[in-house]
Order: sequence, then C-alpha cells, then structure tokens
Amino acid sequence: MLTHVPGRAPGTCGERFAVLDPAVGEAFDEAPDQHPDELDAVVDRAHAAWRGWRADPVARTTALLAAADAVEAAGADLAPLLTREQGKPLAESYAEIARTAARLRYFAELDPGPQPITDGRPVRSEIRWRPIGPVAAIVPWNFPLQLASAKFAPALAAGNTMVLKPSPFTPLATRLLGSVISTALPEDVLTIVTGREPLGARLASHPGIRHVTFTGSIPTGRAVAEGAAASLARVTLELGGNDAAILLEDVDVERIADRLFWAAFRNCGQVCMAVKRVYAPARLYSQVVEALAQRAKSAVVGAGLDPESQLGPVNNAPQLARVECYTTQALADGARAAAGGHRLDRPGYFFAPTILADVPSDSRVVTEEQFGPVLPVLRYGSLDEAVEAANGTGFGLGGSVWGTDLDRAEAVADRLECGTAWINHHAELSLAQPFAGIKESGVGVAGGPWGLYGNLRPFVVHRPEEA
Ligand code: NAD
Repeated sequence: MLTHVPGRAPGTCGERFAVLDPAVGEAFDEAPDQHPDELDAVVDRAHAAWRGWRADPVARTTALLAAADAVEAAGADLAPLLTREQGKPLAESYAEIARTAARLRYFAELDPGPQPITDGRPVRSEIRWRPIGPVAAIVPWNFPLQLASAKFAPALAAGNTMVLKPSPFTPLATRLLGSVISTALPEDVLTIVTGREPLGARLASHPGIRHVTFTGSIPTGRAVAEGAAASLARVTLELGGNDAAILLEDVDVERIADRLFWAAFRNCGQVCMAVKRVYAPARLYSQVVEALAQRAKSAVVGAGLDPESQLGPVNNAPQLARVECYTTQALADGARAAAGGHRLDRPGYFFAPTILADVPSDSRVVTEEQFGPVLPVLRYGSLDEAVEAANGTGFGLGGSVWGTDLDRAEAVADRLECGTAWINHHAELSLAQPFAGIKESGVGVAGGPWGLYGNLRPFVVHRPEEA
C-alpha cells in the first residue's frame, strides 16, 4: 500500500509514495520513492556531466535561456499540477513559474569575468571564478518551483551540475519541471530525485557533493550542516523566519491594511518572510486589529483550482496540526480571535484566516514560526520596546516598518536585526538583490551576483611583470 510522506521504514524497498491534494486531503497521484543507495550512481553521473558543462560558458548561457523558454511554454501543464499538490491559487502558481523562467534568464546572463587584483605590487594577478562541482539542493514545499530555481539557476549558470530533492509533499511539479528543463540541457546536468527520508540526509552528506544548498526549517538545516561536515562541502542554508512588522504612530491604517494583510497571508502564510507578528502602538491597536480582522473575514478561502479562491488550504496535515496547536495554545493563554481561530469544517486542510489580539508575548505563536494563516497583533508602549521585541527572537530573516514619515520609518528599519528590511511593504524581492538571513535564519548569501559567487570558487593566477 502507498503511504504518505513520513520517512521510509528501514530496510524497505518501497518504490512509490502517495501525493495528496491538500484541498481534499486525499491522494491523487504518486512519486518514486528512490532509495538512498541510488544516490551513488546519480552523483557519479552528475560528476561526469560536469566536465562538459563547465567547459563552455557560451553554450551554457544558450542552454539556460532555452530552458527558460521551455519553462514558460510549459506553464499550462505545470501550474495546475503545482496547485493540486501545493494548494496555492492557480494565479500564484503561474507567478511562480514566471519567476522560475525569469531567474534562469537572470543568472544565464550574469558573467563572472576575471577580476584583476591591484595592490601596487609589480605583478599581474587576477581571480578567475571557477565552478566547484556537483551541488546538492534540498527544498521545501511552500514554493517548490521558485525555490528550486533559486538553487539550480545560479548553480548551473556558474558551471556546476546539480542533484535536487524536492519535499515529498510536493514532488510532482518539480519532476515535471526537471524534465521540461532537461530538454534544453545536456544529460545529467540537472537531476531531480524524489523520496522520503533518509534520502535528503544521505544527499547532504554524500562525499561526491561539493556544495549543499538547503532551504527549509532551522532544525533540518542544522542536520544538513552536520551531514555536510562529513565531506566538508560548502553549505548554504536559507531557514525559517519570524518577521515582525512595526506600525508607527503616524501610519495610515486603512491605507496600508490590504498590503499588510497580504504580506502575512499570501500563500496561506506559508512564506519564509511573511509578516508573522504585527506590533501596533497602543493608541491604534483596536483600529489595526479591526482592519486586519475585517480582511481576514472577507478573504475567499477555497481550493486553489477554483478561480475565486484567494487563500488555499495549508499544504499538509502536520503543518495544519502545528498551526492549530499554536492557535489553541494562544487562545488558552488569554488571546482573543478577532477573526477565525479554528479549522474550517470541510474536507482538506483548511484553516480560517486568523487574527489574534491580546496575545501574551511569550506565546509560541509569537516566539516561534507559525507558517500558516494566523497572525498575532501585539500592542507596544514605546518604540524602543517594539524594536527590542522585533529583534528579540533567534530569527533574523526580514522585518518591516510602516508609517507616513518615510525618513523616520527608515531610521527605525535601520535598527532591525535581519537580512532585509522594508518600509511600507514586506517580502518583495528583486532577483538582483542579496538574500541572507542572519542569526538562525540562514548561513551564506543567495540572490543577485552573490548567489552566483556562492556557487563559484576563486582561482588566482599570479605572474610577475617580467620573467
Ligand atoms: P523541512 O525542514 O521540514 O524540509 C525541507 C526539506 O528538507 C524537505 O525537502 C525535506 O524532505 C528535507 N529533509 C527533511 N529531513 C531532512 C534531513 N534530515 N536531511 C536532509 N533533508 C531533510 O521544512 P518544510 O516544512 O518543508 O518547509 C518549511 C520551512 O522552510 C519553514 O521553516 C520556512 O520558513 C522555511 N523556508 C525558508 C525559506 C528561506 O529562504 N529562508 C524559504 C522557504 C521556506
């Protein structure tokens, strides 16, 4: 019988696992449950393919641009499949595919040309950026294609090959994406492997891998870093977030309420850098809670394939249980549900968009990452208190400040301890900017040229001016 996701039983030789549609909570397809022992051959082939792939940067650019065209052309096949296994509204799946194609084009055209080193000595010395070898990528279920592309676009453009493992909750669209892209690339340059644990653990610690790039939760990130330590492979970790949004005294609540709401609830709140806590000044507190609650109550929740839906289901049963547990605990701690606060009484993994008021600051929905459609709103007295609370967790992914006086808002944003701070919006990223969480939110830098260099090694050639 097919079983759904949790790890494979030791010694079993299961060949496929079930993939569920979160809008109904039932299996609709299956994916190969690859055995970790298969990785030896996969990594060997990735290594063999690397020799040709790294040799010709011009051919690489052409192939990656062709891959971007192929992804775009396959949008009508990819988007419904992505929505079916992930849950997000169809329009968001199309946006994810567009972003995947755009990222391929962006990195295909970045040129890490030689860099001279000028330090006054009578030598000619320059850095020639070289690829590092087969890269392993492990990604989560919230943006399966977009996050996969954040791995393979810079790694392949840099001249590496890649073995990529999607989450077992969302393997299907990634497998299809892999075959679409492979029509434009030489064989074994990008290989998708699917399966349950310990497939990811074995991939992260495989001795033939030179860089492990991981996106997911903090505990798994730690395990991945430990695994990669065995071969001393380079590690890039993009981990969880608990971003705070601080509203200032001069904020125009009605003007920003839609933007703030969707910064927290897009993709059903399953965004690493969603707004996960709101800090509102005491004077505006009720107005902020009411404005957000009104939007939560009127958001249209339904299956992602229904064109009316603005919010889909939570992706999977363990995640739904986590969201429900944090909400129930907060309510037991004395919080009030200004909207939602419960599962929806229908099949599938639906949770009512929830605004929590009067939440104790030590409640888990505030101190940990809820990663779902639940938003706590906290009251603050002084601005120093708000900044301290915003910075007072182990996370450091993003943060935002909302107000009318932009200079003042920027001065407050400058005090946030995180990788990216926004003013009057949140979680908007350009392909050209660095993306780097601090504290437990990440190690290394993705995005922009920094993402490319994260997949290259400096090779220095040093020669005197005269023989
Ligand atoms: P997760 O850590 O449970 O799983 C991520 C991936 O790791 C999956 O492919 C999973 O199968 C694999 N995995 C599980 N155990 C492993 C092991 N021992 N060794 C190697 N791989 C293993 O995370 P999730 O629940 O899929 O995703 C949600 C988390 O991802 C949230 O914390 C979210 O904030 C984070 N996230 C971060 C970013 C970012 O860019 N910072 C982006 C998206 C999501």
